[in-house]
Amino acid sequence: TTFTAPPLDAHLLTNIELARYMTPTPVQKYSIPIVFAGRDLMACAQTGSGKTGGFLFPILSDMFAKGPSQRPTPKDEENTTPQQQQQHSTSSTGLPTVLILAPTRELASQIFDEANKFAYRSWVRPCCVYGGTDIGHQIRQIGRGGCDLLVATPGRLVDLLERHHISLRNLRFLVLDEADRMLDMGFEPQIRHIVEKEDMPGVQDRTTLMFSATFPRDIQHLARDFLNDYVFLSV
Ligand code: AMP
Repeated sequence: TTFTAPPLDAHLLTNIELARYMTPTPVQKYSIPIVFAGRDLMACAQTGSGKTGGFLFPILSDMFAKGPSQRPTPKDEENTTPQQQQQHSTSSTGLPTVLILAPTRELASQIFDEANKFAYRSWVRPCCVYGGTDIGHQIRQIGRGGCDLLVATPGRLVDLLERHHISLRNLRFLVLDEADRMLDMGFEPQIRHIVEKEDMPGVQDRTTLMFSATFPRDIQHLARDFLNDYVFLSV
């Protein structure tokens, strides 16, 4: 492939080849070096531009290169209060290092499918939560399988955070996908609740990537509030 500059992790390249992607799309070509350089990103890109790979490739490459060392130790899992343990004794708290917020169940599921495709035969465990469906099943999946890379719609994630089934304290990458659609759907309070939560690492301690088809004033405000010295990319 030509996914070679900067060099993506070899295992990720194998999975990209399995997917038969021959060349990066423009958004992938530009976003990969920006994320590799540790910069925050505000990207204006449409659906169909390959924006999913634009954030998944550099994030998965970084995860594969670093290995599963950020995984919670059993001690971390014991850190829940006795009350929490009683509430859900069969499951432990999900501690994702990557959170991807998406406006709809359909988009979240698509991102989750892509994440599974490119995390194939690796230690990375993607998981997906969205509203309008049984929360108990999602709680059991997070607890049983664990969760390194979480794809979520904002409302359902707030619910799971409030119930202490997910903690954001290990987060290293935060992605807001189709941010303009999330605002159109009225998710701004939930998004702010999530990003401003006390255990969310500060803007200096995480990499934040925001994708939006348009860049109106309300998106500019989100970018100002959530991103640190970001690179602006329009493709
Ligand atoms: P997205 O904009 O992320 O929804 O991607 C749009 C479509 O393009 C999806 O079906 C992807 O599987 C496909 N795609 C993304 N990147 C590439 C690539 N580099 N080469 C070929 N197909 C791609």
